[in-house]
Amino acid sequence: MERIEGLPPAISIEQKTAANTPRSTVGTVTEVYDYMRILWARVGQPFCPRCQVPVGTQSPEQIIDKIMSLPAGGKAVLLAPVERIGGETYEELLAREKANGFTRVRIDGQVHAIDAAPGIDARRRHELELVVDRLVIRPDQRPRIADSAEMALSVGNGVALLQLLDDGGRVLRFSQHRTCEQCHAAYEQLTPHNLSFNSRLGWCEACEGLGTQKGASLNAIVVRPERSILEGAILGWDRLPPEGTMSRVVALMARALSFDAKAAWGQLPE
Ligand SMILES: [Zn+2]
Ligand SMILES: [Zn+2]
Repeated sequence: MERIEGLPPAISIEQKTAANTPRSTVGTVTEVYDYMRILWARVGQPFCPRCQVPVGTQSPEQIIDKIMSLPAGGKAVLLAPVERIGGETYEELLAREKANGFTRVRIDGQVHAIDAAPGIDARRRHELELVVDRLVIRPDQRPRIADSAEMALSVGNGVALLQLLDDGGRVLRFSQHRTCEQCHAAYEQLTPHNLSFNSRLGWCEACEGLGTQKGASLNAIVVRPERSILEGAILGWDRLPPEGTMSRVVALMARALSFDAKAAWGQLPE
């Protein structure tokens, strides 16, 4: 018999008899899982679980590119969201921004001259944005658009809005933070913990990383749905004697939950 010896295997894993927890898998025992978690945390694309859209940071250059990719000739207003600082009133905020050189402000979606801004009810929360620039999106406008976008991001602490005047006033939101563009939920940077079923941050909440769940399956319990509970619909409760304790329990339950214990299971309301 011919044979070749000494060829190294393509993948070798070391077998250990270390701690054996209910969450141990081939991946965790061999540490393959640890390397995969690091890889996914680095190259993974997080999605907002609510909106199923990618969550990411955008650099000023990406934001400018996105604006430049809009239909040429479109008119838009570049806005920077602002908030009151400490115990500041809205009037003080507007006075401060006027001193910073801004002349127009959008309050709850309406643009006003800062000098002619209406009184703002301080008891409610309002959306205030400074008008940083009005743009015409054209290739030759790129330097100005870039300057204004960077200005808006700086004033808006990493957030800028672009209201498209030709598109029914649609507002695009740009963010340098890890936020969902749709629901604005903020996310932390991915770490290997987010991808670990051994970590509270990463495990599935239903099974806490165990991969199995204890519970009862309705189909396994109700074995004869064409019968009533008293007549053996439920496994183990075969034809309860009419005067027996179980029959009385079922009758009491039926009264408390208002269902008919004599009706076939399949006929009962959900
Ligand atoms: Zn979202
Ligand atoms: Zn699970």
